[in-house]
Amino acid sequence: MSNTSLYPTYARADLTFERGEGVWLESSDGTRYLDFAAGIAVNGLGHAHPHLVATLTGQAEKLWHVSNVFRIPDQERLAERLCAASFADRVFFTNSGSEAIEGAIKTARRYHFVTGNPERYRLITFEGAFHGRTLGAIAAGGQAKYLEGFGPRVEGFDQVPFGDIEALKAAIGPETAGVLIEPIQGEGGIRPLPHGDLKRIREICDDNGILLVLDEVQCGIGRTGRLFAHEWAGIEPDILAAAKGIGGGFPVGACMATEEAAKGMTTGTHGSTYGGNPLAMAVANAVLDVVLEPGFIERVSRLGLTLKQKLAGLVDSHPEVFETIRGEGLMLGIKCRVAPADVVAAARDHQLLTVGAGDNVLRLLPPLIVTEQEIDEAIGRLDAAATEIETRIAENRKGAAE
Ligand SMILES: *Cc1c(COP(=O)(O)O)cnc(C)c1O
Repeated sequence: MSNTSLYPTYARADLTFERGEGVWLESSDGTRYLDFAAGIAVNGLGHAHPHLVATLTGQAEKLWHVSNVFRIPDQERLAERLCAASFADRVFFTNSGSEAIEGAIKTARRYHFVTGNPERYRLITFEGAFHGRTLGAIAAGGQAKYLEGFGPRVEGFDQVPFGDIEALKAAIGPETAGVLIEPIQGEGGIRPLPHGDLKRIREICDDNGILLVLDEVQCGIGRTGRLFAHEWAGIEPDILAAAKGIGGGFPVGACMATEEAAKGMTTGTHGSTYGGNPLAMAVANAVLDVVLEPGFIERVSRLGLTLKQKLAGLVDSHPEVFETIRGEGLMLGIKCRVAPADVVAAARDHQLLTVGAGDNVLRLLPPLIVTEQEIDEAIGRLDAAATEIETRIAENRKGAAE
């Protein structure tokens, strides 16, 4: 099943795809799959979106890459648009979420360095966090399974239990630079931080002269029914990392910051060869063309509610398989009573693609362009998958009793 020329770092499903259109993927043998994984919250506009295809192919004929030693008009335009639509005043573009996080960590540390507090370099994070796979990001995420065997852990991260505001306050010391958290933990199992808690953390940061750094790599760019998830809490961060949905499948990330928080990132302090190149910026601007269209994000919110209600119905009818629903917009998780991997496999047998996550959660992250009919179709397939798992549970019980 696995190719011996590749690092075997992924436990891959034995499935390859040939093409995609909207919410549908077609495997090499011609089978159609309903894609409620969207490349893990990446294909926000689905597959082969006509506007993205036209933009990418048009740009490919003109210019791909020039290096950041020159001005890149589309990069300037994308930054201006992101700033106009958010809390930010400054943007640094990257090729991935991990690099956006690295940029965010460096921005936070430099801020305190240039404001005369170089000793403030530590960030407080939450247990269950996921910030990527670079050495800095695995240290920030703090998960033993990702740190093991990779040498000394990058210094400067203090972890407290998820959502524990008192522990967070207690962890603030003279070396604290800020708090780095996901408004909704993604890999950790679609764990939303209550809006009140996010507000409280904003206040604590202000009271202590430290920065609020948000990881919206998974929950940003319209996914939760707002451009950025923190908007639900009515607060603004100082620094934010975005990626995944921002390029619609083209590798793009962004580290965004206020003018004040970004003030240490002066000429020569940071860089990226590819980050923000013309090809990537053309596509990311095209993604924003659609996501910022009036009504698009509101529609995500509305459809998210529809999906959530229908999933709640599935929980009611399959209490042995499913436990609860959580999440916001089209970033939803079902806490399972069975291994989520079993549900992912059973759903895949019914040509529905989903993703597992921590805390025994099955993630549903459909493209933001999903229709109500496609939601109904997915619910039907998940229902069939759950029924199959229940039948198996009943058979095992019967077998054990005999
Ligand atoms: C996916 C993810 C990352 C890492 O992004 P990569 O592009 O894989 O480097 C960081 N933070 C969060 C919340 C993510 O979901």
